[in-house]
Amino acid sequence: MPTTRRQFITQSLIGTAGLSLSPKILGQNTLTEKKAVEPLVISTWSHGIPANEAAMKILQDKGKAIDAVEAGVRVPEADPEATSVGYGGLPDRDGNVTLDACIMNEKGDCGSVAFLQHIKHPISVARKVMDETPHVMLSGEGALRFALEQGFKKEDLLTENAKQKWEAWKKEADYHPWIYDEHNHDTIGLLALDIQQDLSGACTTSGLAYKMHGRVGDSPIIGAGLFVDNEIGAATATGVGELVMKTLGSFLIVELMRQGMTPQKACQEAIARIAQRGDIKRMQVGYLAVNKAGEYGAYALRPGFEYALYHKGENKLYEADYLQR
Ligand code: ASP
Repeated sequence: MPTTRRQFITQSLIGTAGLSLSPKILGQNTLTEKKAVEPLVISTWSHGIPANEAAMKILQDKGKAIDAVEAGVRVPEADPEATSVGYGGLPDRDGNVTLDACIMNEKGDCGSVAFLQHIKHPISVARKVMDETPHVMLSGEGALRFALEQGFKKEDLLTENAKQKWEAWKKEADYHPWIYDEHNHDTIGLLALDIQQDLSGACTTSGLAYKMHGRVGDSPIIGAGLFVDNEIGAATATGVGELVMKTLGSFLIVELMRQGMTPQKACQEAIARIAQRGDIKRMQVGYLAVNKAGEYGAYALRPGFEYALYHKGENKLYEADYLQR
């Protein structure tokens, strides 16, 4: 009889438990057979509430986590009031709205776009990269050309509101990018566990407001802004992308969960790694994680990181615990 992937992994884990993996993991239900579970959606910031609604609707209809995460983050992407995601996002310092997004499914397939302009739903372009190309990531002009070939509409994404804010910033900031500002972020990262106990994630952003033209953050980088391993768990990030990229935060969190940490402990350890690197004054990073058993965690560098959790019939906003007291 051929060995299934799950049997192979279980056998490999038993064979190597003493080498690289805590034996604790063998007791977790990451390796047991699939059973119907309570669906869960968790996402960053208050725009996570309507995003979770859209995602949970799909999960409650027995839909797949990958479809739920895409539908969820499309809500803030289309909302002109959400000034850090998609349409209405704050521009770079030259007035261009440039978008980053990635998506990852339960098979470990992923798609990503970086430095994409003029397309309202970068997450759906990322999904097309995953589903329709042999690649993982497309950027800039090439990503735009691919999106247009796929039937996406070219639009002006700079709203009057965002333009006015940028013009006010220009007077104040003397053309220096504001990487340190603790209010200069609000990516949506959204993770979902479906009733088949499969995990997926999506992450989409207009990036740091008033960044240098061409700057790409953590959000489209698989392993930095998002990572999913369906045997273990998933994680996503928001905040100063440079700090997340230097520590490959989402991949780190999933690997820490693999070694037996709870999602909460893993988020805390990933934040501690950032803090150990040096000066983090006025900088924010927030992490969310969920494991295969439906346990979740949230942790940030500073106060103020909110996340939306939809679980057991309730969709509520919480403030995450944080490192800097
Ligand atoms: N992580 C995003 C970036 O660095 C910023 C954010 O969370 O809004 O591009």
